[in-house]
Amino acid sequence: MDCFDITVIGGGPTGLFALFYAGMRGAKAKVIDALPEFGGQLYALYPEKYVYDMPGFPAIIAQDLINACVEQAMQWPHAVCLEERVTHLERQSDETFTLTTDKGEHLTKTILISSGIGAIKPRKLPAASAVQFEERGVTYYARNFDRFAGKRVVIVGGGDSAVDYALAIEPRATAVTLVHRSQFRAHAHTVEQLRKSSVDIRQPDFEIKEVHGDGNVEAVTIVHSKTKEESRIPTDEVLCALGFVSDLGEIKAWGIEVEGNGVVIDPYTMETSIPGIYAAGDVINHRGKLKLIACGTSEAAIAVNQAMVRINPANKVQPVHSSNLTLPISAKLGVKP
Ligand SMILES: Cc1cc2nc3c(=O)[nH]c(=O)nc-3n(C[C@H](O)[C@H](O)[C@H](O)COP(=O)(O)OP(=O)(O)OC[C@H]3O[C@@H](n4cnc5c(N)ncnc54)[C@H](O)[C@@H]3O)c2cc1C
Repeated sequence: MDCFDITVIGGGPTGLFALFYAGMRGAKAKVIDALPEFGGQLYALYPEKYVYDMPGFPAIIAQDLINACVEQAMQWPHAVCLEERVTHLERQSDETFTLTTDKGEHLTKTILISSGIGAIKPRKLPAASAVQFEERGVTYYARNFDRFAGKRVVIVGGGDSAVDYALAIEPRATAVTLVHRSQFRAHAHTVEQLRKSSVDIRQPDFEIKEVHGDGNVEAVTIVHSKTKEESRIPTDEVLCALGFVSDLGEIKAWGIEVEGNGVVIDPYTMETSIPGIYAAGDVINHRGKLKLIACGTSEAAIAVNQAMVRINPANKVQPVHSSNLTLPISAKLGVKP
């Protein structure tokens, strides 16, 4: 079995930028992700939202950002293992590591954990009848707003995702109802836009009591939690944006120091409590941690450059500036070596 220099657990923006740096530094790298596509939270939770805080991009759609990250990372033929979940890792006597997944084993000299918030699972709609309509009208992700065109849609939730979904779907759908049981947690300016839109807002104190249909969703019953008054709303789709649940799951069993819901790292090197294992992005926890894409990518660059020195102590931590290199993409751009 091939032993890789760096194995990246998690192909979100942090892991993808780590792969870019690994390629730039000539490392033999592999990435493993439980999802079927790259992109982490951007792919799973908000592919159609604009991101406004990437350096150099005044506004970029999350999926476009991920596509660019993939193009940047995959200039090199890194090994890619998607739909594969790391469950266990073990340090060998020669200081390499064996990673165990639900599909097999992987050998590596160093590891970068960029597993974000962990395996992402949406918080489910508590109405008992909702389960039987999953994928038949009850959904937890909105990857393509056009699929709501000409439909009646009930959106459940009061955070950024719910309000953003309502605003994005409203021009496409024939009717949108937003049901939420308390105060909105979304940004004030989007809530203001929502109140000016045609979205029928049932909030606060409204919950979905029951989902109805004969095969596919046909209606929901909502109930006012204080007055107990019920009403039935005909609908074709119930889009739930109730947040998501995640925890460090198996990572907690890997023997790495964890505090709260984050891996403890040395912020100068990004190394975890186990030498040779680094962590970056949303998965880490330190006093100044910001859970932002830009911060995760910076941490990934630090981690990979540190790992290069561990792999070969003759390597320098500071990389050569990319502008002084000829990369695989340079040929495409017509840049001569
Ligand atoms: C609605 C929303 C809007 C946001 N907007 C912005 C914004 O505008 N700007 C900004 O900077 N940030 C934003 N963020 C935060 C940003 O998305 C995160 O900071 C970023 O995704 C973290 O990237 P990551 O690669 O560290 O982790 P993630 O994106 O969480 O990716 C981690 C990956 O690891 C994989 N994984 C986890 N466990 C395992 C395992 N055991 N085995 C294999 N694979 C595993 C997961 O499947 C996932 O693909 C937003 C977040 C949300 C929810």
